[in-house]
Amino acid sequence: MKSVNVNPTPIFSRRQFVAACAGVPFLGKFFFDEPFTYSVKGKINVADLGLTLIHEHVLVDFIGADKVTQDRWDHDEVINKVLPYLLEIKKRGIKSLVECTPAYLGRDVLLLQKLSKKSGLNILTNTGYYGASDNKYLPRFAFTETAEQLSKRWINEFRNGIDGTNIKPGFIKTSVNAGPLSELHQKLVHAAALTHLQTGLTICSHTGPALPAAQEIEILQKNGVSPSAFVWVHASGSDEDFEKIAKSGCWVSLDGVNEDNVEKIATLILFLKAKGFIKQILLSHDAGWYKPGEPNGGTFRGYTTISDKLLPLLKQKGFSEFDTKQVMLTNPANAFTIRIRKSNA
Ligand SMILES: [Zn+2]
Repeated sequence: MKSVNVNPTPIFSRRQFVAACAGVPFLGKFFFDEPFTYSVKGKINVADLGLTLIHEHVLVDFIGADKVTQDRWDHDEVINKVLPYLLEIKKRGIKSLVECTPAYLGRDVLLLQKLSKKSGLNILTNTGYYGASDNKYLPRFAFTETAEQLSKRWINEFRNGIDGTNIKPGFIKTSVNAGPLSELHQKLVHAAALTHLQTGLTICSHTGPALPAAQEIEILQKNGVSPSAFVWVHASGSDEDFEKIAKSGCWVSLDGVNEDNVEKIATLILFLKAKGFIKQILLSHDAGWYKPGEPNGGTFRGYTTISDKLLPLLKQKGFSEFDTKQVMLTNPANAFTIRIRKSNA
């Protein structure tokens, strides 16, 4: 097992930061406004996130919104299966994992909290609904309620906790089909914008091609939300597509890293870097997926390809340690900081 040659220390440690602020009234105030997010264990300074995988899954239940219930899986069985995979990435210096499974697709925040405590990793969970796969994972009321009503439900999870717990979402997860946005999916994006303006939560939207991404960004801007609050999840397309969407200032999520595409992803990262977009790149595997209903959760994909294959390859191609920190540490910390980002358009 090869470990990554990355120093997991943040740019400055909290201790250095506090020391630097001591006795300086202005900086002292600044210290209390330190950028933060929520993990399943509570409020956390983003400086403590460390190396972060920004789009992974623990458990995904594809049974559909009308049938999914949390008694379809057993916490101990899932933990037995998943914990070793979390410990594998911890060994490689990864400190945080952003869990992107939304409600009605198997989000289980108490399960995530147990895994976070056992592994020592920070895990972020989300609020929001998933429209892709032709709405199979949308609850019935999502078809009839207004954007305002949906956003109230998400804001409520942010203010009061998820599923009767005190666990808060660290971001919004929504999703749209790959073509032009339907009215229903426009409504989901509108609800995400309204939620952002009340909570400051970053909006991660399962999107894919550039066309729906551009339409989502337009809706956000129309509602006063800056593209810098938007993560273009499963970003895909031509070099021109990437350039066009990245120019908006959104986050570009290259979250499908696997054994077969490391060369292609490395080339794309170097292209984006050359075009001046390195500060917007996010990397992850979209892996995991304990599947309830399959024997022992079915085939589970681990989260190590970035550490073991992609980062060494990038290094060979001239990526510096600073660049690696930028995409694996600084960018996730900035992307998931909870703060309201208004558009000036
Ligand atoms: Zn995913």
